Amino acid sequence: MRIIADFHIHSKYSRATSKDMTARTIALWADKKGINIIASGDFQHPKYLAELKTVLEAAEPGLYKIKKERFASRIVLSTEIANIYKQGGKVRKVHTLVVMPSLEAAEKFSKKLDSLGNIKSDGRPIFGFPTKDLVKIAKDICADSMIIPAHVWTPWFSVFGSKSGFDSLEECFEEQTKHIKAIETGLSSDVLMNRRVSALDNIALISNSDAHSPRKIGREANVFETDLDYYKIKKAIETRDLKRFLYTLEFFPEEGKYHNDGHRLCKVNLSPREALANNNLCPVCLKPLTLGVLHRVEVLADRPLGYKLDKYIPQKHLVPLEELIAAVYGVAPSAKKVQTEYIRMLQVGGTEFELLLDKQKEALLKITEERITEAILKVRSEMVNIIPGYDGEFGKILVSDKKKRVAGIL
Ligand SMILES: [Zn+2]
Ligand SMILES: [Zn+2]
Ligand SMILES: [Zn+2]
Repeated sequence: MRIIADFHIHSKYSRATSKDMTARTIALWADKKGINIIASGDFQHPKYLAELKTVLEAAEPGLYKIKKERFASRIVLSTEIANIYKQGGKVRKVHTLVVMPSLEAAEKFSKKLDSLGNIKSDGRPIFGFPTKDLVKIAKDICADSMIIPAHVWTPWFSVFGSKSGFDSLEECFEEQTKHIKAIETGLSSDVLMNRRVSALDNIALISNSDAHSPRKIGREANVFETDLDYYKIKKAIETRDLKRFLYTLEFFPEEGKYHNDGHRLCKVNLSPREALANNNLCPVCLKPLTLGVLHRVEVLADRPLGYKLDKYIPQKHLVPLEELIAAVYGVAPSAKKVQTEYIRMLQVGGTEFELLLDKQKEALLKITEERITEAILKVRSEMVNIIPGYDGEFGKILVSDKKKRVAGIL
């Protein structure tokens, strides 16, 4: 069966997250979106782990479901850990996903982390030991764990980040690199950008939402042709099996909030080429720019723009339905009439992914008005223009009648 999976979200126990991010509401929204496997998020947090142990029951291999509910979605135990430490004379800040197939393993991991630092104050805890030690801890507890560097190109908290990252996986993970089989591309980069870096040829690229509220669940995801089975999905990822790992669902990378270079407060938004022409300094305040993901990929890439590997897991770009409706109406996604139409479409039309990916024009026209139908179809054929995001500011999508998106403009 087709399985859509999102391995990275946060519970209400993480900072700056919605209080609605409980296991039950997460599963409910996964159903609305059409996600088959959704991350628990934050599983090492003692209060959340206690909640998970109460509300979850074992389902298919390595997966859980909510007790006494008819939700179709399954929950996989997943969390994100921050490591902040010094290496090679520089401060490094790296976020990493840890995915585990059982509550027993999750509990052991939680206990081990509890002995090494504070896991109570934040669902995404911070530790002072190196990221490579995190790999060893997780693998020693459960050999079937997946350890996945998160949003690898974002400037502040990632393995390749311009501010506090590394230039290669080996530099960060050393003898543990062999356990890194996949990386998360993050909202601001996509498959084509990552495949310009030949050092990543043997690494799977996955995409997740990193949602902090229910409606953001699945804004990026992974699509498999397998069974509901943690081990089969892990194998599909790790072997990069084109028959089993079908494609990733990605933001247009320009939409991500760290795509371009710039300064948010100075309202300066520059392409890498423009930034370089200015010595990477802000033309307004003259301080160093926050270099975005496109710039960082350009620095580490050894292949030209537009390069395509012979065999790679492809991607589909999408725009979340709420954003698309908002773009059509010319208002913010939080506007009442966007919300009303979004909820109505889910009620009469099926899941969000069915609407965005599967339904043909005739079917869509029965569900919603013509201009929203047209917007969905235009995104499928990449007829969009995007003002790129920069320095924490999301990009802006404009659905276009005439122009097809050009990828990776520098
Ligand atoms: Zn993170
Ligand atoms: Zn996160
Ligand atoms: Zn500035």
